[in-house]
Amino acid sequence: MRKKIVAGNWKMNNDLDQTIKLINELKSLITDSKIEIIIAPSFPFLKIAVDLTKDSNIEVVSQNVNDNSNGAFTGEVSISMLKSIGVNTTLIGHSERRAYYHENDELLLKKLNLAVENKMRVIFCFGEELSDRKSEMHFDVVKNQLKNTILKLDESSINNIVLAYEPVWAIGTGETATSEQAQEMHQFIRNCISENFNEEIANNIAILYGGSVKPANAAEIFEKKDVDGGLIGGAALNASDFFNIIQANS
Ligand code: PEP
Repeated sequence: MRKKIVAGNWKMNNDLDQTIKLINELKSLITDSKIEIIIAPSFPFLKIAVDLTKDSNIEVVSQNVNDNSNGAFTGEVSISMLKSIGVNTTLIGHSERRAYYHENDELLLKKLNLAVENKMRVIFCFGEELSDRKSEMHFDVVKNQLKNTILKLDESSINNIVLAYEPVWAIGTGETATSEQAQEMHQFIRNCISENFNEEIANNIAILYGGSVKPANAAEIFEKKDVDGGLIGGAALNASDFFNIIQANS
């Protein structure tokens, strides 16, 4: 049985006081949960977030990680640094990393391999641009993104990967994929996993949808058979919105 997950990507939002406030609000709302709840604050606040969530159902993860183990990479953060403060999961491949920091499939595969080697769980993000969807190339684009990255990993490492399908045109735009579009793509992704690895792996891997998920549309998306939860941006910055989205997947 696949685990249901709701993950909040805080992006470059919230200073120290706001981070503490939001975590405390979430903790008072989330007293008991059958699903996995994840938050991804910014690097400077990960340690305090880990400490604050110690006795809760909330896991703290990072938004990014470097593709090298250590060394002369000014401004970067390594897997071992994250692990040393109790962060054992990271996002990799978010569309904003791809678009603004030119992270391509080759670099993302390097990050994935390093994460796998170091037993760091990964929430791997991917998805097509609006132009790809308009030209009906979205399945090809997504298949290629997978082929160049997670489908190159070996079978034994896949159980430490969560997938997050995030159509770029739906991220932060207020325009969500319909639940049918989400289901259609999630099923396609699961088929790609099954063809490349096997059916058992495909049935066990969690695939999250991300792109303008809000309390009002979450339930409809999450009830689809191949949608195991969501990666939430804007709505994760408000405790009651995020809580309502969690409830919609419970
Ligand atoms: C995201 O950043 O991954 C995301 C889905 O953002 P939003 O929910 O704001 O579209």
